[in-house]
Amino acid sequence: MEVILQHLTKKFPGRSRKNPEEVTAVNDFSFTIPDGSLLGLLGPSGCGKSTTLHLISGLLAPTSGKIFFGGDDVTGLPPENRGIGLVFQNYALYPHLSVKQNIMFPLENLKGKDKLSRQAMLDKALEAARLVQIDSLMERRPGELSGGQQQRVAIARALVKRPRVLLLDEPLSNLDARLRLQTREEIRRIQQETGITTIFVTHDQEEAMSISDLIVVMKDGVVQQAGKPQAVYDDPANLFTAKFLGSPQINVFDGEVRDGRLLLGGDAVLDVPGVSHRSVYAGIRPEGFIPDPEGPLACGLRGVEVMGRDISVLASHSAAAAPTVRAIIGAKHMAGIQGTYVRFALQPRKVFLFDRDTGERVPFQAEAVE
Ligand code: ATP
Repeated sequence: MEVILQHLTKKFPGRSRKNPEEVTAVNDFSFTIPDGSLLGLLGPSGCGKSTTLHLISGLLAPTSGKIFFGGDDVTGLPPENRGIGLVFQNYALYPHLSVKQNIMFPLENLKGKDKLSRQAMLDKALEAARLVQIDSLMERRPGELSGGQQQRVAIARALVKRPRVLLLDEPLSNLDARLRLQTREEIRRIQQETGITTIFVTHDQEEAMSISDLIVVMKDGVVQQAGKPQAVYDDPANLFTAKFLGSPQINVFDGEVRDGRLLLGGDAVLDVPGVSHRSVYAGIRPEGFIPDPEGPLACGLRGVEVMGRDISVLASHSAAAAPTVRAIIGAKHMAGIQGTYVRFALQPRKVFLFDRDTGERVPFQAEAVE
């Protein structure tokens, strides 16, 4: 089911006389989520991602704008008539009901022509439980399950009516690191098996990047950038997106462009053809540093962290925004990294320039270094 958001805006009135300011939680959000895809809705706390999800679910009504599922305008429909499955961070299972009863619950409420026989409900519950691999736990109560198993029950309950759209709001937040990893792969598998259009809200960029077909990055209610995860990472539209995606984070420097060259702390470190004289922020991805004794970028050497295949070089530079500049380099270069300073050449495709005032990307012609 294709989901179309058209100029979606949600304003909340001021909460009290002390806080009279209206909050625009979602501001003119337009996007089309292709049928059968998984969209990761991503951004820091308070950026409006949960509000967007609640608008799509029907739990909140938009101030303006429209929502379509396929050809249907669902903007005015209550949640129960939209054909959605919802999963929240806190599994919200009924503690006194068994796994089976929890999964069957949405079916018990069907009325009129949709009403199902007991056997049909049991069959559907078992089918959903099998999909998330908890069919051996059907008689247990939620209190007798691990966090990961409880979240699977919540997902099975959301799937049992075969929703047109599956909405997941930070579904992994309550799980420990290993379970998060497992469960996110599980969500991807289930989504691909069922082909249900899915919207997944998270503040964790790695989570969103790893399982999404498309991501939308939000800030202060406004979409910053949308696209395939790798494309957004490789081609950030602004400094916010560049900083939000990537771990370790991109390194930011105060830079000047003079005569088509990028200067950091007075040293010309890269040719940036087509950019006029100006001050910029220069973002360099950790993997964009190439150790080179003749390289133009000299940094203080603070230490080295070994990470197996790669090593992380901790450096410093007077023009850097943060005290530590982090470079990720192949372990084979380790021998050359010693003493009090280190020199780098830069991989042009891993360097981005941004306007100092607006944070918007300032493009230049990047040439790959072999
Ligand atoms: P988090 O990751 O912390 O859940 P979020 O990105 O999901 O954040 P939202 O919950 O969508 O953000 O909130 C967006 C903005 O709208 C915030 O500034 C929040 O304070 C405000 N907001 C959310 N719900 C309400 C409400 N019911 N009344 C007033 N303001 C609200």
